[in-house]
Amino acid sequence: MSFPQIAQRLDKFRNEMIDLQVRLASIPAVSPSSGGEGEARKAEFLLGYLKDNGFQDIEVIKAPDLDAPAGFRPNILAYFRGRSASKTIWIMSHMDVVPPGELSLWKGDPFKPWIESGKIFGRGVEDNQQDLVASIFAVKAFWDLGLKPAFDIGLAIVADEETGSDKGIAYVLQKSKAFRKGDLILVPDAGNEDGTLIEVAEKSILWLKFKTLGKQSHGSMPERGINAFKAASHLIVELNKLYAAFPQNDPLFDPPISTFEPTKKEANVPNINTIPGEDVFYLDCRILPHYKVEEVDSKIKEAMAGVEKKFGVTITVEDMQRAPAAPPTSPTAAVVKALEKAVKAVYGKEGRAMGIGGGTVAALFRRMGYEAACWSKLDETAHQPNEYCIIDNMVGDAKVFAHIMMQD
Ligand SMILES: [Zn+2]
Repeated sequence: MSFPQIAQRLDKFRNEMIDLQVRLASIPAVSPSSGGEGEARKAEFLLGYLKDNGFQDIEVIKAPDLDAPAGFRPNILAYFRGRSASKTIWIMSHMDVVPPGELSLWKGDPFKPWIESGKIFGRGVEDNQQDLVASIFAVKAFWDLGLKPAFDIGLAIVADEETGSDKGIAYVLQKSKAFRKGDLILVPDAGNEDGTLIEVAEKSILWLKFKTLGKQSHGSMPERGINAFKAASHLIVELNKLYAAFPQNDPLFDPPISTFEPTKKEANVPNINTIPGEDVFYLDCRILPHYKVEEVDSKIKEAMAGVEKKFGVTITVEDMQRAPAAPPTSPTAAVVKALEKAVKAVYGKEGRAMGIGGGTVAALFRRMGYEAACWSKLDETAHQPNEYCIIDNMVGDAKVFAHIMMQD
């Protein structure tokens, strides 16, 4: 068998792939915590489809959820057996979608997908159905041609990715022994427009709220008050020294450094002639995995103490988000090398292992010691109105998956 033969077969599947996309996007699968009914109906449809299209050993892992009408959130593990069972090539995609948001911003009904100039529009078509469908058809091409991939293929089609994965892959990892250390784990839920970004690492995220308390007074009598805004402004300047305190540079990341940026600022007094007695601002830190988040904490505490002493204010800090980075997947891991080969063969581009500033669901695998990589060729229209999937990307991604399945 040759790769062009499989690629050709996938080109012929183009209309069938569009059809499956449209059918999936017509079944809303919004999580109960976002006001939906969950993935049960979508999973039921998919189970039938997988059975009819060559998948063997299909398992459903149900995470209990009393807020879902079905009472559970379904997670599907579906296998297609290869010549060797010594490892499994996993592709994980998710069934749930985010709510459509403001409907007037959509050109059509988000759950009645439509096609326009080479794109499918609808909620969930890119995130994550593009690659859910692509992974199914990569396998279907082997089945249709009567071929066996080099190793077992496993599709993990999970729930609850958009609201934290507790009833999705986190539950599966807890309940199932399906994943093994030597497996290739591919999560096609992050990427870039030309398909060159292979995500292997992430920064820790730390979002903080700083509240500075001084003493309000008349604008003409600053000495009778303590200007909380002024003290907080000095704190912001002090916090900028975090850049110098944590200077590590890692070219795996873009930007290659840790970042510490003041962002949101709450309103204080409504009038100009009052010295504000209270000030609230926020800091968004993205910290390279080389540093412990606690090291940053202690530097921040020092800065706060300095400003408190100098200005006589009281400053408190509160976590808005604290997500320590998972250990990175090595840029030379088997899953990265396999992706690089496949991306080169299908898209003619050099894939590049990189870290990103935000967390992905691959972190859940990495924390448990599995090497997982995120990759997809996409326009990043996820979560936006008029979300779309470029049909060529869907077919191309299927070829990339099939190429990996062929590699020895
Ligand atoms: Zn997603």
